Amino acid sequence: MTARKERLQIRKNTFDRVRRAVVKVGSGVLTSDQSLNTRVIRRLAREVSTLMEQGIQVILVSSGAIASGVKKMGMIERPADVPHKQAVAAIGQSGLMLEYERSFARYQKKVAQILLTRDDLCNRRRYLNARNTIHVLLDWKIVPIINENDTVVVEELKFGDNDNLAAMITHLMDAQILINLTDIDGFYDKDPMDHKDALLIPLVSKIDRGMEKAARDIPGAFGMGGMSSKIKTAKKITTSGIPMIIASGLKSNILKSLFEGRDAGTLFLPRKEKMGSRKCWIAFTLKAKGTIKVDKGAAKAIRKGGRSLLPIGIVGVKGDFGVGAAVRCIDEDEVPFASGLVNYKASDIRKLMGLRTNQIEKRLGYKHYGEVIHRDNLVVMPDDKEGAVCQ
Ligand code: GLU
Repeated sequence: MTARKERLQIRKNTFDRVRRAVVKVGSGVLTSDQSLNTRVIRRLAREVSTLMEQGIQVILVSSGAIASGVKKMGMIERPADVPHKQAVAAIGQSGLMLEYERSFARYQKKVAQILLTRDDLCNRRRYLNARNTIHVLLDWKIVPIINENDTVVVEELKFGDNDNLAAMITHLMDAQILINLTDIDGFYDKDPMDHKDALLIPLVSKIDRGMEKAARDIPGAFGMGGMSSKIKTAKKITTSGIPMIIASGLKSNILKSLFEGRDAGTLFLPRKEKMGSRKCWIAFTLKAKGTIKVDKGAAKAIRKGGRSLLPIGIVGVKGDFGVGAAVRCIDEDEVPFASGLVNYKASDIRKLMGLRTNQIEKRLGYKHYGEVIHRDNLVVMPDDKEGAVCQ
């Protein structure tokens, strides 16, 4: 088989398996010079409706609130300070939804707005609530349209950008693919705006440092993340065993072409083993509140044997966190290799470092668990010498 034929086969197999997709649409796709790009929104509504009629569930993650608000207010750029940005998002979000509502109505489809903060998804109960609600909407064949709740969110509770939000929604909903629609055709080896010889890479089986570096040089237009945040997202998504595609949302019939297995955009292939949804939540949704450094023996037992983290293997603790917090485990070379939920607070773990399990009670005056992190709450990242561990 030729390389192209083989690639098309991989694409076809990937899309044939998809019953539920998250489609993220960037601000650069949704807005034109003066306002929201209604033509693009109508086209997206048509394409998503067609997929739904073929039995594919679609969850939209839509940016565009700030961009649309900025344009509605006649500003030439985003406000720099937080209250103004939040006010502009509030102005833009309603217009954005109105446009979706109208466009989907043409195809007899209803939409629902869901605004989330990272805090909502870090809280396990609220996380499950959001999941249940979206399940009901999908059962009712309504299109969930999700954005960050920009108006209330403060910096430390932000998803970062909507690429990251889309990754979390893909995990939340166990979708089989994340389709990231942006204003360029896919991932190029250099910025195509500056380099005529820039090459589009159609298929990526492993994201290496060179790609991460190339991505840093390709900025976003109106949105926030640019290519760099898309590559970080691709890394998280593929690590959890799900494929992701970056393609142009400005191309007509793009979703149709992708689902027909045609060569468009850049497809990032997933790691073979799929991570369970709870482990994805621990590894990719929760923000690490600290780090625990472990010795060689413990790192090996966790990495290769899937074991729990015991006090005896711990050589350092950074941060001030409580029971149940998410932390990152680093090895003696400071390389992060796992994330997990702790059974003891940071100050107690400092007291327990290097001790045997049967010494815990004597040292603390109590013992709730023998492990500092139980293996059920510990997620090992695949060995990754090339690139940084994603989080
Ligand atoms: N939530 C922002 C908006 O709707 C977009 C953030 C992003 O594009 O990353 O304007």
